[in-house]
Amino acid sequence: MTSTPAGRRIVSCPTCRSDSVFAPQNPFRPFCSARCKNNDFGAWAGEAFRVAANAPHADDEPDAPGGEPH
Ligand SMILES: [Zn+2]
Repeated sequence: MTSTPAGRRIVSCPTCRSDSVFAPQNPFRPFCSARCKNNDFGAWAGEAFRVAANAPHADDEPDAPGGEPH
C-alpha cells in the first residue's frame, strides 16, 4: 500500500461522488462537506417519508396498467 498515506484515506462522497478525505480533519466524513452531509440526510428523510406515505396505497396506483375489469 504505497498509494495510501498513513492516517489518511480518500473515499467517494456519497452525495456528489467526488473525493472526500476520511480523516479526523474532515468532520463531515464520509462526505466532502457540510452541504453534502445535509443534502444526503435530507434525501434520505424525504425518501423514508415518501415510502411511508405510499405504503397504504401500494396497490391502487393511478399509473398501473390495470387490465382487470372490475
Ligand atoms: Zn460531496
